[in-house]
Amino acid sequence: MKIHEYQAKELFRKYQIPVPEGGPAFSVEDALAAADRLGAYPVVVKAQIHAGGRGKGGGVKLASSKDEVKRLSESMLGMTLVTHQTGTAGKTVKKLLIEQGLNIEKELYLSLVPDRSSAMVAIIASEAGGMDIEAVAAEQPEKIIKVFVDPLIGIQPYHCRKVSFGLGLSPDLIKSFSAILNRLYRLFMEYDCSLVEINPLVITAEKTIVALDAKVNFDDNALFRHTDVVSLRDTDEEHPLEVEASKYNLNYINLDGNVGNMVNGAGLAMATMDIIQQAGASPANFLDVGGGASAEMVENGFRIILSDKNVKGILINIFGGILRCDILAEGVVQAAKKTGIQVPVVVRMEGTNVEKGREILKSSGLNLITAVDLKDAAQKVAQIVRG
Ligand code: GDP
Ligand code: MN
Repeated sequence: MKIHEYQAKELFRKYQIPVPEGGPAFSVEDALAAADRLGAYPVVVKAQIHAGGRGKGGGVKLASSKDEVKRLSESMLGMTLVTHQTGTAGKTVKKLLIEQGLNIEKELYLSLVPDRSSAMVAIIASEAGGMDIEAVAAEQPEKIIKVFVDPLIGIQPYHCRKVSFGLGLSPDLIKSFSAILNRLYRLFMEYDCSLVEINPLVITAEKTIVALDAKVNFDDNALFRHTDVVSLRDTDEEHPLEVEASKYNLNYINLDGNVGNMVNGAGLAMATMDIIQQAGASPANFLDVGGGASAEMVENGFRIILSDKNVKGILINIFGGILRCDILAEGVVQAAKKTGIQVPVVVRMEGTNVEKGREILKSSGLNLITAVDLKDAAQKVAQIVRG
């Protein structure tokens, strides 16, 4: 799960990681009130979306007067912000962060991520932080340093020294940097994060270290023990169909293609997506209705696929083990009758009660195309979407 920068900075405050003064604004009036509270200029107006690269996309601007805060927040609220992380469609800006401007002397990069291959926490840092970090990683990889922390031992002073020396910090800054790194590590572990990133972590002209940006992602599987994090969820930032699917505990992810597909079991769903690609088409979604799905879950899943405007054909691929084929067929028929099917549907179904399932589909009066096996199913649906 992702949260906004202003929410991540609240978490940083809780851990005494220095951040600029400021707060969120949901309207122009809010923005002006927030600027008044800061009392001094420049003030930074920052678009809050769940994507990075805002600076380059025009989502981070400095204002030197109250008038400018007004002008900037008027133009930013409601704008479609396109960055290298949003895709071409961009994201609508609905929230801002109004912050005190700082005198930046140097921009560093600092992040923590789980490193799966070593089963450790990787501290990634660079003295060349800021908006071009991707280019630094690609062209000057020697400027990116990595220090691994064994989670059973935890972060130690030598880890902090290694990162500090790697960043070329002057001795007077090492102490405050190490304190920040320790607190960041604690936040990362205590909140079951999948990423904590500060880019840039700045050294100011006054020789203080401040997190100018903040990105915190959480492991969804650990959210049950962080109810405070769950309340930070912003469904404005998620795909509406994914929000809808999450209400029914469906594992649904919206994708770019035009073949909608409904499958039971994540492995079979991945194989189905591969075979759709092999047949020359591309999937519009990932949907695992689960091994033990009820007719109701199948119905909800099918309804969600049907409501995706990009879908030109649907492939239902079910291996009935725990989920019986007759239950699946009932769910499909119910959803189809309620929602109406505008696109061709190819069904490949095998397993428990398959005869009963086929009978339900056949007698439903719906126009369904049956496939003999997986390859046949993928080819049939690919042919349909190609027109
Ligand atoms: P991102 O582009 O989405 O990662 O947004 P950031 O929060 O990292 O901001 C982008 C850039 O804006 C930073 O790298 C800074 O160069 C600049 N910036 C942000 N806040 C300030 C500030 O208070 N003063 C100055 N001078 N520049 C700032
Ligand atoms: Mn940034």
